[in-house]
Amino acid sequence: MLITSKLFINGQETPCISGKQMTLVDPSTGKEWFQVDEADKEDVEVAVKHAEAAWPAWSATSASVKAAALRKLADLIIANGQELAEVECKTMGKPISLLKWDVRIVSAALYYFASLVETATSTLSTNTPGQLNYTLNQPFGVTAGILPWNLPMLMFVQKIGPAVGAGNAIIIKSSEKAPLTPLILAKLSLEAGFPPGLIQVLSGYGPTVGSALALHMRIRKLSFTGSLAVGKLIQQMSGQSNLKVVTLELGGKSPAIVFEDADLPSAAKQLAYSILMNAGQACIASSRVYVQSSIIKEFLGLYQSAIEAQASVIGSAHDEKTTHGPQVDRVQHEKIKKYLEVGKTEGKVLFGGSAPDREGFFIQPTVFTDAKDEATISREEIFGPVSVVNTFETEEEAVRRSNDTDFGLYASVFSKNIDRATRVAAALESGMVGVNCTSPTISLDMPFGGYKQSGIGRELGPNALSAWKQTKSVFVKL
Ligand code: NAD
Repeated sequence: MLITSKLFINGQETPCISGKQMTLVDPSTGKEWFQVDEADKEDVEVAVKHAEAAWPAWSATSASVKAAALRKLADLIIANGQELAEVECKTMGKPISLLKWDVRIVSAALYYFASLVETATSTLSTNTPGQLNYTLNQPFGVTAGILPWNLPMLMFVQKIGPAVGAGNAIIIKSSEKAPLTPLILAKLSLEAGFPPGLIQVLSGYGPTVGSALALHMRIRKLSFTGSLAVGKLIQQMSGQSNLKVVTLELGGKSPAIVFEDADLPSAAKQLAYSILMNAGQACIASSRVYVQSSIIKEFLGLYQSAIEAQASVIGSAHDEKTTHGPQVDRVQHEKIKKYLEVGKTEGKVLFGGSAPDREGFFIQPTVFTDAKDEATISREEIFGPVSVVNTFETEEEAVRRSNDTDFGLYASVFSKNIDRATRVAAALESGMVGVNCTSPTISLDMPFGGYKQSGIGRELGPNALSAWKQTKSVFVKL
């Protein structure tokens, strides 16, 4: 059994100093099932000291040693995939059958980072007579990652993979809603060959342990994934402390534009999947759909059928047959129910619109129509299986309305006219655009991140490692 209630500090399961614990609730039943230690500022200090001791020797190892450890961790994740999936399912309510995807992509991401470690290069310039100039890309030293709860395993490897691949130590603060799989992965990292203190995990709350990391004077880089509101605080805390380098992966209100010449059944199916994945708890979910008015009737019929088919079994995340599980916790459940009520005053319910009367934190997949672009449900990230469909007449109008948001994470366009599709892709203010596809279409070898208030910086892609290194120019007089 890999599951643990302790913190993971210096290669050991370590009780928190305060002795406080947080209670985990199974979202499928609403019942308490586990207690986990709650870190505080004092635990951060301990972890930072161990990280400082661990990274220099690790940084001096060869690329092949680092890459081998990343690949070993990937293999251990596959080998322990069933336990990881069961723990995640009980912690944040993702259906067990869907968690196989998480285990596979997490492992594949580590293999990708290993390949970046082995192929990393630096700049060499002989352009100045009498000089040999080159760059050294060096680790920051002690770094940190703060995780959301919606994809705990992927977010964990997305931070630790490039961080340690670049030679840093990293302290992860997991989400208080999903602390268990990061602890398990950290335990596995020891078996994979990472030294004690290199990858540490602190479970705990944001305003305590999260802000202690963000304000720490000896943590030089922090990667945060979470909400816009907290992302702004993280940026401020960097400024208040040591101006640590901050990467922000924040929320979205992703638009999709469906033109009348699109492959409608395919668009409807993909857009249904996008808003249903992880019960709508995805930063890249297509939550605003703009459909050319000539095809709205046909689209709505196909969209409703696709959502009903894909969410045909709403039930306990532990049941293999379940296709649509609960929301993560009571807080999110209440928040979405409020949005549903607000939505009923702002638009028309096409279908859904309430929470099923059963134990656990379930929400019926819901589609609103006729809500204005200024409506709360059109502007705010609901983070549930709720979308808003509207019509448009012209390409210019569709692009303008799609871009009328503070966010800019993922957008999509469906059209068989490749000139138009690529023109629109260029015009959408978004870090990622799907053409005749939508989220979760991403790729490990493509940069992931947002325009506007969806974030700062990119993760994944060929520069994933560079984001965890600082560059030094060396000028050698010959
Ligand atoms: P959140 O912002 O509430 O919490 C994220 C993390 O920040 C948690 O670990 C939390 O404990 C911590 N935190 C909270 N207050 C803090 C503070 N004052 N100081 C330091 N840390 C603090 O977000 P969430 O509810 O966990 O996750 C959902 C959000 O994450 C959504 O907005 C979603 O769009 C976004 N998200 C973005 C991406 C992406 O890659 N862009 C991926 C997944 C989720």
